[in-house]
Amino acid sequence: MTPKYKAPRGTQDVLPQVSWRWQRFEAAFRDICRRYGYAEIRTPLFEDTELFVRGVGEGTEVVTKQMYTFEDRGGRGLTLRAEGTAPVVRAAIEHNLAAQGRVQKLFYIAPIFRYERPQAGRYRQHTQLGIEAIGAPGPDIDAEVIALFHDFLKDIGLQGAMTHLSSIGCPVCRPAFSKALREFFNPKLDQLCDFCQARYETNPLRILDCKVPADVEARQGAPSALDHLCDECRAHYDGVRTYLDAVGVPYEVDPTIVRGLDYYARTAFEVVHPALGAKDVIMGGGRYDGLAEMLGGEPTPGIGFGAGLERLLLVLENAGRAGSQPASQVDIYIAAASPEARQPALQLAIELRRAGLTADLDYRLRGLRAQMREAARLGAAFTLLLGEEELRHNAVTVRNMETGEQQTVARTEIGQHLLSRGREQGETER
Ligand SMILES: [Zn+2]
Ligand SMILES: [Zn+2]
Repeated sequence: MTPKYKAPRGTQDVLPQVSWRWQRFEAAFRDICRRYGYAEIRTPLFEDTELFVRGVGEGTEVVTKQMYTFEDRGGRGLTLRAEGTAPVVRAAIEHNLAAQGRVQKLFYIAPIFRYERPQAGRYRQHTQLGIEAIGAPGPDIDAEVIALFHDFLKDIGLQGAMTHLSSIGCPVCRPAFSKALREFFNPKLDQLCDFCQARYETNPLRILDCKVPADVEARQGAPSALDHLCDECRAHYDGVRTYLDAVGVPYEVDPTIVRGLDYYARTAFEVVHPALGAKDVIMGGGRYDGLAEMLGGEPTPGIGFGAGLERLLLVLENAGRAGSQPASQVDIYIAAASPEARQPALQLAIELRRAGLTADLDYRLRGLRAQMREAARLGAAFTLLLGEEELRHNAVTVRNMETGEQQTVARTEIGQHLLSRGREQGETER
């Protein structure tokens, strides 16, 4: 039967067979953020459209073609979270987090919505893991942000990723770089797409960001921002490299990394993994010192990264590091041998759960044999049998599912008995 309703194109359901992977992954990210001193921030699923138009950049592909924009019943222009950084910086300004006198180190795990052509690991709703450090100007925080992601990959067991690092300069050195780019593109101007011909006048840096194949071709051998850094940008860039070396994070210098919008400055980086292809980025980030001011706040330096969770899971899978589901889903299975035992079975299950154990039972009025099969399938360590005999003597038969050994325990002592048996088993396994 074809179902009448399906998840919208480009979205997916995360079913229990795989959601344990997401949970494990998110727990690892929360843990590394905690150790690095980043606290969680949660912003709304939608924002004023204008925030993304400003924050992502007018004329960018995201803004012109990919946003989920709608008008609410009050006539407000709203957009589903199209990007991770702008909402966080908006919140930092709105709540005046800078007044707390510390660098704001924030992380989020949040869905991002973009109308893109669906492909492997890319969804119209995808989940982004990100951090933002707001209020720190120096190269030390840049190295820390990059190191955090490097250590995260280590924690989740992914090897073979490479960090690509560059600097895109600042408003001081950008004019000279723009001039060099104009000189380079001038003879090839008619080969560029219409957008880039306009960008040539307004912001030639963004030609370096264009995805049109002919333009990618035309920019072979284009000047590098790294060759046009002012003294301060050079010192900052050298500082980032020194710190990365000091904390043992390997990287490659890659001047092709571009951030074509004015509020980006200096450090820019990406992490790629061969399991997705050399140009397939699993994380991207950089410094956005001009963003807070552009969103109406005080000038505030900031840096952060975003990484797509679904893509990272795909990389782990392709690299054979998907991990395996925990074998046991329950500690205790309670089998009712007769209809009269069903109520005491549910009572016992809830009692054990309240005592901190994982307990489950049959809800489909199946026979004892089917219940025992289910107990084995769920990987229960013990099955508790409740039948006429047991009820009469106010007792429970405890079956060790591994050894098959059975013993009768008084109903009043069962919780204590299981907790101590569980401890013993835990000890022998260790
Ligand atoms: Zn500069
Ligand atoms: Zn172009």
